[in-house]
Amino acid sequence: MDKRYDDVIEFDRRQFASDNYSGICPEAWQALVEANSGHVASYGMDCWTRQAADALRELFECDCEVYFVFNGTAANSLALSSLCSSYHSILCHNASHIETDECGAPEFFSNGTKVLLVGGANGKASPKELEHCILRRSDIHYPKPKVISLTQATELGTVYTPDELSEFHELAMKYKLSIHMDGARFANALAFLNLPPKEITWKRGVDVLCFGGTKNGMALGEAVIFFNTELSKEFDYRCKQAGQLASKMRYLSAPWVGMLKDRAFLKYAQKSNQCAKLLESRLKKIDGIEILNTVQANSVFIRLSEEHARKLRERGWYFYTFIGTNGCRLMCSWDTTEEDVDHLASDIKAVLNN
Ligand SMILES: *Cc1c(COP(=O)(O)O)cnc(C)c1O
Repeated sequence: MDKRYDDVIEFDRRQFASDNYSGICPEAWQALVEANSGHVASYGMDCWTRQAADALRELFECDCEVYFVFNGTAANSLALSSLCSSYHSILCHNASHIETDECGAPEFFSNGTKVLLVGGANGKASPKELEHCILRRSDIHYPKPKVISLTQATELGTVYTPDELSEFHELAMKYKLSIHMDGARFANALAFLNLPPKEITWKRGVDVLCFGGTKNGMALGEAVIFFNTELSKEFDYRCKQAGQLASKMRYLSAPWVGMLKDRAFLKYAQKSNQCAKLLESRLKKIDGIEILNTVQANSVFIRLSEEHARKLRERGWYFYTFIGTNGCRLMCSWDTTEEDVDHLASDIKAVLNN
């Protein structure tokens, strides 16, 4: 018997477990409907894919190269594999998705490149620790540092500022490293900073960005954007070999056209960020609550005892507790409403006051 589906759950409400619990937003859905007409060429040789790539070039004000893949693990792993060889190392924060949640795919797709971890407060890599890690060894027995990987917004819902990114840029130039950005929640970072996208990407030395569509409101799909186009050499072959070249590519690319038009993607990122801020302010009014991080993007982390977490679950709420001991992540989505926030906050209050 297949046990995988024993725990399938149906929800009676919108949850705060992850932004990938949400469905497809109207703009992405409408673009799929429009793209679903007639025959078009396959494997990305269609007008939707061209339009989506052009729209991204316009957004970033840059003549970048754009590829569309199915998910974030593939986007990160394939992007990283094009930046390094098997004897190199990738430096990242110890809470990075590429380290903790991709089942070794970055190492697998780069044929064994080692991921080296550094610490840093609030989920952000510390430039000091990073430099220490680069300089720790320079002999042939140590995997040669080659890439700095940064998550924007971070796994802890914080956002690197342009000045912080500049520090990494300087390190990258000093030690001849590339910069990869895991932007599964890049839209949320952008919404928080309210800056032109170029100010936190290629102008700060980012060579390749994995721009997330899924958590932002699409069905699926991430854009791999090479600002340093030399590094994208034969990237199309990497995608194909990894099973990431969609034959009906229009269904991966068309949603980007819908999301970039009138900056719908930004509207949804702003909305989910605002919901997180609202949740934070509601929670702050509760006696004895401990909020673990500065809320900048679309998540709020709180500390709950095991008993309180169980009681909250009994009230029908789902949330992740894998970051730190007793740390509960509450994640807002593009479709989270003020009523959802109030419902959750009042249940947390009830749990804590009992
Ligand atoms: C969700 C996420 C990804 C992508 O995950 P997939 O499940 O492979 O699509 C990558 N990085 C971060 C930080 C994420 O939160």
